[in-house]
Amino acid sequence: MSIGEIIYSYLPAKRKQTPSGWVKFNAVCCHHNGTTADTRQRGGMIQNGDGISYHCFNCGYKASYQPGRHLTRKMRNLLSWMGAPDDVINKITLEALKIQSDEQALEAVTIPKFEDKPLPEGSLQIKEWLEHLTKLPVDLRAQFDTVVEYVWSRNLDPLDDFYWCPVAGFADRLIIPFRLDGRIVGHTARKVIEGKPKYISDQTPGYVFNLDGQTQDREFVIVVEGPVDALSIDAVAILGAEIMDKQALLINRLGRRVIVVPDRDADGKRTVEQAIANRYSVSMPSWPEGVKDVNDAVKKLGRLQTLYKIVSETEDTELKIKLKAKQWFLN
Ligand SMILES: [Zn+2]
Repeated sequence: MSIGEIIYSYLPAKRKQTPSGWVKFNAVCCHHNGTTADTRQRGGMIQNGDGISYHCFNCGYKASYQPGRHLTRKMRNLLSWMGAPDDVINKITLEALKIQSDEQALEAVTIPKFEDKPLPEGSLQIKEWLEHLTKLPVDLRAQFDTVVEYVWSRNLDPLDDFYWCPVAGFADRLIIPFRLDGRIVGHTARKVIEGKPKYISDQTPGYVFNLDGQTQDREFVIVVEGPVDALSIDAVAILGAEIMDKQALLINRLGRRVIVVPDRDADGKRTVEQAIANRYSVSMPSWPEGVKDVNDAVKKLGRLQTLYKIVSETEDTELKIKLKAKQWFLN
């Protein structure tokens, strides 16, 4: 029996059903609230979505229950006044808590709906800008050049899916769209010169960058923090140090072995812990001198060699990951 059915089962035997859905009976609350007992069936119980609620039209007492919420003190009082034994009340109080935590747990591991989100107004793909360059004022033209130069410098292709927006606050930023099934569901605008904030982003929590790019015939998926690192080796990015439960769900759905490559900083240690918790493998490659991230490695070693190092220096067990992390984060 559901909690609602159990509550209904304690309604007084003498009751009547109204066409509007109320079950009416002599209210059980009034004399507990300093009012004369009801004799005119002014207590009413009604279905309320998935839940139920009680209203007394004599003393004004109200109580309700919704699945996913706890059983309120008022509902427990009501049950007791209707004659439900304490052990039954305790049992359904616990049951309500369990349903509540199940629903919260489910919420945490439900893949969110990713709605379309527009890019900053005036954004065009860099390759589209090529046709409009002659019309740009000199100062904006210089900023466009800086952005394109940044893309080159990261060993990426300016003709790929990168945007630029000449509006104040964005002109010195590279706009990377967050796509899912081809749709744009967010973006980040990365400053290409010194200055803060480094990223201006718009995204739905739980998004994983570059899932659309996981079309290769690989048996594994590589997980990194940032979008530029991700693009340089066709990895996915968690866009921060934290692997959220919702993100893990999307990554796991790929059905491949997961290899996490953390950033080599304090936040990266947290990423490693979360990788272990998710039973992912972790790669902490011995990069050559001067290489601090995946993108650097690609510039120095090339894409294939970088991938080879990542895959061949992967640890799978918690113990080995922890041992390796101890050294790796020291250096
Ligand atoms: Zn009452």
